Amino acid sequence: MDVKLHYISSTTTADLNRDLAVVVGKGKLGFSSVRNRSEERRKMFGRGPKKSDNTRYYEILGVSKNASQEDLKKAYRKAAIKNHPDKGGDPEKFKELSQAYEVLSDPEKRDIYDQYGEDALKEGMGGAAHDPFDIFQSFFGGSPFGGGVSSRGRRQRRGEDVIQPLKVSLEELYNGTSKKLSLSRNVLCSKCKGKGSKSGAAMKCPGCQGSGMKISIRHLGPSMIQQMQQPCNDCKGTGETISDKDRCPQCKGEKVVQDKKVLDVLVEKGMQNGQKITFPGEADEAPDCITGDIVFVLQQKDHSKFKRKGDDLFVEHTLSLTEALCGFQFVLTHLDGRQLLIKSNPGEVVKPDQFKAINDEGMPMYQKSFLRGKLYIHFTVDFPDSLTPEQCKALEGILPLRTPSQLTDMELDECEETTLYDVNIDEEMKRKQAQQAQEAYEEDEEMHGGAQRVQCAQQ
Ligand SMILES: [Zn+2]
Ligand SMILES: [Zn+2]
Repeated sequence: MDVKLHYISSTTTADLNRDLAVVVGKGKLGFSSVRNRSEERRKMFGRGPKKSDNTRYYEILGVSKNASQEDLKKAYRKAAIKNHPDKGGDPEKFKELSQAYEVLSDPEKRDIYDQYGEDALKEGMGGAAHDPFDIFQSFFGGSPFGGGVSSRGRRQRRGEDVIQPLKVSLEELYNGTSKKLSLSRNVLCSKCKGKGSKSGAAMKCPGCQGSGMKISIRHLGPSMIQQMQQPCNDCKGTGETISDKDRCPQCKGEKVVQDKKVLDVLVEKGMQNGQKITFPGEADEAPDCITGDIVFVLQQKDHSKFKRKGDDLFVEHTLSLTEALCGFQFVLTHLDGRQLLIKSNPGEVVKPDQFKAINDEGMPMYQKSFLRGKLYIHFTVDFPDSLTPEQCKALEGILPLRTPSQLTDMELDECEETTLYDVNIDEEMKRKQAQQAQEAYEEDEEMHGGAQRVQCAQQ
């Protein structure tokens, strides 16, 4: 029961992710879903107080009190088909019909009912009635509506969704793209309509008597046992088996066959990292099960040049000192290949760490792609490491004068000389923090050690 996805192609040529040949394995009907089924069953039969008489069941089936088994069968058949939830009938009415039939068709139960009414039966049955759908199926030997997956009823477990990450480049999110993935999955066998048998009938699994569950007892000690309920292995928890003779030749009784198709995943302009693209009902099909979805979760790959924040784009640009002071002009290739000419305003000086923005050159907005975010440019200025005395002189001739020293020679003589050296301030601060932590630890140790010494002294 595996959904497999294989990457085929992408309409954009840029940044093909060839790494997308993925196999997604999904579990079969597990213990939890079997347990859920019995929980649902419990809910269905959590009956409220009802009038305790001994005619209601006859009224529900519309038969007289001395109806024969044949009359009961006929009445149930007619009413159950009419009221089956798959045919738009009222589930409550359907349930009541099944209950009434279950009791009246059993001579022993009918006898108790005739004498003491409903309540007596409930006690006698220990509250555990049969599932109305089971009664219906045992009566008709399968569905009378010609197979297929019924749309309601307690057998409607929901199949698991397949969650599949899908890597996309920033270019693909900017321009939009469609990616083709081949999908191989289980679908209900068309020949037997997911029944697994030629006749459409299933036998009760002999391993679990049709309950789908097996109870095993483990001896933990002389007077202790542990009871464990597990899904039956013989029938994989379905409660049904198919005889070798009756097995469907197409699916070999597996009820499902492998099917292949191609999924076209449309990645729209402006979609975000983590956004989901859902293909409803494209996961593995299984009998009596609502098929789960295949969900692609977009994973935006990092871009070498552009960073994205929401609908805005950020780009780093380094200017030489001359460019920062005297103006610059450069070409930036955008995510759609357009060449943007970016230049300073005449006479403008760009300072280190300065940001500038261009409107409407950010990401297109999802489903409003005519609207776009901003493109921010963060400037770094590359200063020269050193200058010659001649260069300094030349610069001094152009640039504003140095702040004149307010000090007299006498006063300068009284100052102390210092030396400046280069530091990496981040590393410097990190080292200091580590040092402080170490000192705090040592102090703690000292105090602890001291306390121990005091203790020793007291002994
Ligand atoms: Zn079984
Ligand atoms: Zn088949």
